[in-house]
Amino acid sequence: MTLAHGRPYLAIPGPSVVPDRIQRAMHRSAPNIYGGELAEMITALWPDLRALAGTGQNVASYIGNGHALWEAVDTNLFSRGDKVLLLVSGLFGLGWANALKTLGVEVEIMDFGRNAAPDLARVTDRLLADDGQIKAVLTTHVDTATSARTDIAGLRAAMDRAGHGALLGVDGIASIGCDEFRMDDWGVDVVFAASQKGLMLPPGLGFVWFSQKARAVGRSAGLRTPYWDWTARADGTEFWQRWHGTPPTHHLYGLREALDMILHEEGLPQVWARHETLSRAVWAAIDAWGQGHPRIGLNMAEPAARARGVTTARFGAPDAQRLRLWCEKKAGVTLGIGLGMATPEDPHSTGFLRVAHMGHVNAHMSLGALAVMEAGLQALGIAHGSGALEAATAVVAGA
Ligand SMILES: *Cc1c(COP(=O)(O)O)cnc(C)c1O
Repeated sequence: MTLAHGRPYLAIPGPSVVPDRIQRAMHRSAPNIYGGELAEMITALWPDLRALAGTGQNVASYIGNGHALWEAVDTNLFSRGDKVLLLVSGLFGLGWANALKTLGVEVEIMDFGRNAAPDLARVTDRLLADDGQIKAVLTTHVDTATSARTDIAGLRAAMDRAGHGALLGVDGIASIGCDEFRMDDWGVDVVFAASQKGLMLPPGLGFVWFSQKARAVGRSAGLRTPYWDWTARADGTEFWQRWHGTPPTHHLYGLREALDMILHEEGLPQVWARHETLSRAVWAAIDAWGQGHPRIGLNMAEPAARARGVTTARFGAPDAQRLRLWCEKKAGVTLGIGLGMATPEDPHSTGFLRVAHMGHVNAHMSLGALAVMEAGLQALGIAHGSGALEAATAVVAGA
């Protein structure tokens, strides 16, 4: 029988759960864009957006998804033939590399594989050997496919040890609003986020934060075009400057609500701590399932290198896919597919799945998802270790 009737839970790493109050804030007639409430609201968004990334510097907004932000950043910083060093820990890093290459930027990829965060000592060595060719060091904070997390403060220190003047650019799409992020403290020059992940909104709105240094370097960017140019989007006083045209009206009402929830009600440090605890509960369960059953396990062995908004796990092919489909059809929980984990034996990554704990997620949602997974393992006869739910509940109880 199916037990899926009831409120479904989309536990994939974007789009994430959209809170009812955000949906209500967006459910309205088209507002006037030339004055009144919306115009005032827009001005008040900018200081909060800066706080979200931990910066007192610049923030520009775009109507677009994550792929649009890659293009925004690339065109604002680079010229054809410029060289960048891109640290890759999964499919999303490779996606950014492709976006850069298509625009004519020379990309040197340092690939750390599918289950390791960037090795910072190697980055220092590479920069020490550079003769001033590398204009930027780029990386994902969290690679959403592998759930690898880069130590961004450590990366800045690694660049400083090499005495290298490159810009530091970070894809924060899967981490902003989930994992601790401090742009100015960590010396980040560019970071970007999309609305459908930690910000709990539908896809379609993006943000690029950039330092004064990035702003200066970008002035001579040959790839820059009027639409993507971040200058007026960051400095503009009129809505049409901020979005180079009509603003994303309904998304902005949702964004106001999301920023209130994150910054002014729960508080950013508590938001990070909630994600931390829920991710530990998920890790504890998966570790327990893997006891004596090495087919099952966390993709990222090293806890410090794990994302706090998504966890990639292996269950062996095709059992991750079987389990995922069971959870959705029988119990109303949709888990994330394995992404970019293909091998010759498993060409469709059916041995991996991803559990999201990203955005509007609390203890009962994460524990519920884990309990459903436990039921699925039993129902499908997938051999697994015991004690997963006890381990996960102990994390919650101890928090
Ligand atoms: C989701 C995601 C993207 C791509 O975003 P789209 O909205 O699908 O274009 C890029 N980078 C990271 C780290 C992501 O998590």
